[in-house]
Amino acid sequence: MPNTVNTDHFWMPFTANRQFKSRPRMLVSASGMYYKTDDGREILDGTAGLWCSNAGHCHPKIVAAIQKQAATMDFAPMFQMGHPLAFEAASALVSIAPEGLNRVFFCNDGSEAVDTALKIALAYHQVRGNGLRTRLIGRERGYHGVGFGGIAVGGIAGNRKNFGATLAGVDHLRHPLDISRNAFSRGLPEHGAEIADELEQRLLALHDPATVAAVIVEPLQGSTGVILPPKGYLQKLRAICDKHGILLIFDEVITGFGRLGASFAADYFGVVPDMICCAKGLTNAAVPMGAVIVRQDIHDAFMSASAENAIELAHGYTYTGHPLAAAAVIAAIDVYKGENLFDRAAAMAPYFEDAAHSLKGLPYVKDVRNLGLVCGIELEPIAGKPAARAFDVFLKCFWEQGVLIRTTGDIIALSPPLIIDKPQIDRVFGAIGDVLKAQH
Ligand code: PLP
Repeated sequence: MPNTVNTDHFWMPFTANRQFKSRPRMLVSASGMYYKTDDGREILDGTAGLWCSNAGHCHPKIVAAIQKQAATMDFAPMFQMGHPLAFEAASALVSIAPEGLNRVFFCNDGSEAVDTALKIALAYHQVRGNGLRTRLIGRERGYHGVGFGGIAVGGIAGNRKNFGATLAGVDHLRHPLDISRNAFSRGLPEHGAEIADELEQRLLALHDPATVAAVIVEPLQGSTGVILPPKGYLQKLRAICDKHGILLIFDEVITGFGRLGASFAADYFGVVPDMICCAKGLTNAAVPMGAVIVRQDIHDAFMSASAENAIELAHGYTYTGHPLAAAAVIAAIDVYKGENLFDRAAAMAPYFEDAAHSLKGLPYVKDVRNLGLVCGIELEPIAGKPAARAFDVFLKCFWEQGVLIRTTGDIIALSPPLIIDKPQIDRVFGAIGDVLKAQH
C-alpha cells in the first residue's frame, strides 16, 4: 500500500519539494543491493544511497553492533571525558588510512569534516607562529558540503549565491574537466595535468604563497558530475603544495572506503595529502559520522604549542565520537576488511567500465567517464531546459525500471554498493540505455 503520510511539514533538503510532494518517491526498507518502496516495489540501488552504503544496506554485522551499543550506552559526553569505542573507532580508521595519517578528529558528517579540516589548517599555521597563512584555495565545481567553510571553498554557484559573502580570503583553481580533449576516456583522462600548474602560475602569483594555508580538493569530483583528475594532476598539486609549505587536504567523503578499489583515493593515486576528510562509508552510512584523518606532526604541533592542562584545539561537537556511530565505524571497517570489499570493487571495475561505455553512441550521450565503481554519463541538455533531460531519465529509471540512479545537472552519476554483481551492473546500465532509447 502506498504510504499516506502527511508530507507538509518536512522541508526536504536539495529537493524540488513541491514536485516531490505531488508524487512522492518513498523508500521504506532496504537490504543488500535493494530498496523497497511504499508500494512494495524493489529498487536496485545504483548509487549506494548517496555514495555511502558501500557494503550494501542493513548489513547484519553493522546492524547488530548498533543495536548492541544502543542498549548498552546511548550517549557519553566527550569533552574532558571519553568512552572506549571512540578510541577503537579511531584506531580502526587509522588501520586503513595512508601511512603517516594517524590522528583522527570525529564529527558528524562530511560538511563538518570539511569545516574541521579547514579550521585545523588555519590553526596549525597559527600555533606554529605563522599567522600570515590565512588563505584557502578550493576548486571550481568542487563540492565540500554546506557549512560556511565548505561553500566558500566549494565551487558551485547555486550553493553560494543566496548566502552572502561566505569566507574572506578564498580562491579557486579551475576544474580539470575537458570533454573536448578527453571525451569517453576509460579511467584517468590523458589531457589536463597542466591545469594544476595554475596553482603556482596564477593563484600563488596573485597571493604570495606564504599567505596560503591550504588547498582542498576532491581527488575525484563526484557531486558535480564525476570529474576525474587527469593523469599526473594530483601529483603536481602535491609537489606545488610541498614546495610552498601549503597543506593539501583531500576531501574523500565520496572516494573513501573502497569507491575506487582502494581504501582511499590517496592510496589509489599514490598521492598522500596532509589531511583526509571522510564520512558516508565511514559507518556504511548507518549512523551519521564524519572524520578528519590528520598527519601526526600536524596534531603534534598543537600538543607542543600549549601547556599540558590546556585545551589544544577549541573545536568539537556534542556528538563527536557518538557511541552508536563509533560502534558502526568499527563494524563497517571490519566488514570491509573481512569481505575484502575494496579488492572486490577493484576486480569489478573493468566490467563496470565496459558496461558504462556500452552507452556510447546512444541518443544524447555526450560523454561517459569512469573510475573504480564510479561513472558519469553526460547528456545533451534539452535546449532552454538545463537538467531536465537527466531528471527525466532519473524518474523513468525509478518508476519504470526499478533502478535508482543519481543526476546532477544533465549528468547521471553512478556509484553502486561495492557488493554489486555483474547481472546487477548490466541491469543498471541496461535501464539507462532503454530509457534513453525510448526518449529519442
Ligand atoms: N564533501 C564531499 C566531497 C561530498 O561529496 C559531500 C556530500 O556529498 C560532502 C562533503 C558533504 O557531506 P555531508 O552531506 O555528509 O555533509
